[in-house]
Amino acid sequence: MTKTILITGGSRGIGEAIVRLAAGKMNVAFTYFTSEQRALKLQDELKDFGVLAVRCDVRDKNSVLNALDTVKARFGHIDILVNNAGIACDGVFIDLSDEAWQDTFATNVDGVFHMTQAVLPDMLSRMSGSIVNISSVWGVSGASCEVAYSASKAAVIGFTKALAKEVAPMGVRVNAVAPGAIDTDMMHVYSDEDIAALCQNSIPLGRLGTAQEVAEAVLFVAQNAYISGAVLPVDGLLS
Ligand code: NDP
Repeated sequence: MTKTILITGGSRGIGEAIVRLAAGKMNVAFTYFTSEQRALKLQDELKDFGVLAVRCDVRDKNSVLNALDTVKARFGHIDILVNNAGIACDGVFIDLSDEAWQDTFATNVDGVFHMTQAVLPDMLSRMSGSIVNISSVWGVSGASCEVAYSASKAAVIGFTKALAKEVAPMGVRVNAVAPGAIDTDMMHVYSDEDIAALCQNSIPLGRLGTAQEVAEAVLFVAQNAYISGAVLPVDGLLS
């Protein structure tokens, strides 16, 4: 039977690459938030594969529940959930505003909580399911001037490891992928010079990663039946 994957934040970057890679292999639903035109264009481009785009703000539990109703009305149940939607938050810690801290956690952590709690009951009752959370290398090692982001992504790792143990006996696997510096809009706030210096000085493999490379890792860990609680780095050895 054809599996169904739901990817949050599929309108751009890593999420879009996962949508493209999964299309044709399984039923694909993805959420977007502000990038409606891009999302609808992607849905249209992949219409032969029946890809579904749904608007959703992962910070808002009701928005998540509404989006999930739409996906389930189309595809029935969800086999694979990828919690990819996320935002960056840069700046020195002493200048970090309450709003920036809260929005980072609302998106990167509450978003994972809302979507997982909404999808999980069906997986548990079916004794089958796979969840992949997109963390970050900074959630493992921490980044200077990215305290809120690093803390939020570390929270995603703790969430992943704990939930993996809790639901393994019910046949559900939970993993994280921890990308390094990946060439998406999120990196485009940095100048070409900054990126060249990063690649030369801090990434032993000498270049940014691609969204496609992360997408391949996500689908691998999502589908391997004996991996759970893992945090898979896709980082060119950035640390
Ligand atoms: P992008 O900025 O390219 O895309 C972010 C995606 O998240 C968009 O689809 C966006 O939707 C969605 N999104 C943002 N806020 C919300 C929200 N409140 N509700 C729903 N969706 C939302 O990021 P990347 O593709 O680079 O990043 C994807 C994931 O990978 C993130 O979790 C990020 O933290 C992580 N990551 C990225 C790295 C990188 O170097 N790029 C490195 C390590 C981790 P829309 O555009 O429709 O608003």
